[in-house]
Amino acid sequence: AKDTGRERAVWFDEQMHVESVHRVEIENDLRHALDRDELLVEYQPAFDLRVEQICHVEALVRWRHPARGLVGPQEFIPVAEETGLIHRIGELVLARAIEQADRWAHIAELRVWVNVSPQQLVDREFPARLAAQLDRAGLPAHRLGIEVTESALAGCSWAGEVLERIHDLGVAIAIDDFGTGYSSLARLSEFPVDVIKVDKSFVHDLGTARGEALVAGIVTLARAIEAHVIAEGVETLPQLTALSALGVDSASGYLLARPSAPEHLPMTLPAEASF
Ligand code: C2E
Ligand code: CA
Ligand code: CA
Ligand code: CA
Repeated sequence: AKDTGRERAVWFDEQMHVESVHRVEIENDLRHALDRDELLVEYQPAFDLRVEQICHVEALVRWRHPARGLVGPQEFIPVAEETGLIHRIGELVLARAIEQADRWAHIAELRVWVNVSPQQLVDREFPARLAAQLDRAGLPAHRLGIEVTESALAGCSWAGEVLERIHDLGVAIAIDDFGTGYSSLARLSEFPVDVIKVDKSFVHDLGTARGEALVAGIVTLARAIEAHVIAEGVETLPQLTALSALGVDSASGYLLARPSAPEHLPMTLPAEASF
């Protein structure tokens, strides 16, 4: 449940306090990380629960730090967002993901999803640069999706406009960590939304009446705005079975596959996740 907005903020506070000495270090190292090519992108698949085939892949950035080893995004994305380095990192992840999506062009219906920070989304030049990147790679826009959080949309009056332009390119839009932010449902209907991603905190609550009701509510909402539903953070077979019964379209999580190098992308559900 470390993914909820408030808990992430608490995590952030504590972590920044404990690591205040290292923060400047991380910031400095992060600048070099870009120049020294230390960032890499892993990919985690999501599977269509009806046909049990891969249908989405999420790009997740990592940092191979020379001294600290593999560092996860929760340790450096907040620093990158504060320092503005997120723009260069975001461009890098997008470029890598677009290249990779092009290599996967033979896999029918496969779409690669990239997490986009609020700072990237408030940049009015972002859609044009994205269009140019797709053009250069020759990637059909429908092979790419961007994931944004509710708070990214709540904080900026023209974010909807930017999203609209990205959507007009043919790039799909997902609302990430759905249900953990502060945006109103009314606000949600103003944005072009193709996919709602059910936060893993809700998935982990399945098995309780409250958890099931929440996911059922999200599915109903998604149907009303004609969006697909992806559930993430699936770790157990009962969770997967419950999600399928509730009408969720696709799922990802450690039960199905961990994020990995692109060479290791599995195409079908593993045997232990057959339901
Ligand atoms: P997210 O977008 O919600 O991504 C899902 C996170 O859940 C990933 O953590 C993933 O490794 C993890 N996860 C997947 N399956 C399971 C599971 O079954 N159980 C549990 N407990 N966790 C699971 P990761 O890779 O550490 O990324 C954390 C966050 O960092 C992401 O959360 C996203 O907000 C951010 N992030 C990652 N890559 C990027 C990026 O390229 N750009 C930006 N702006 N943010 C990124
Ligand atoms: Ca995401
Ligand atoms: Ca998420
Ligand atoms: Ca089956």
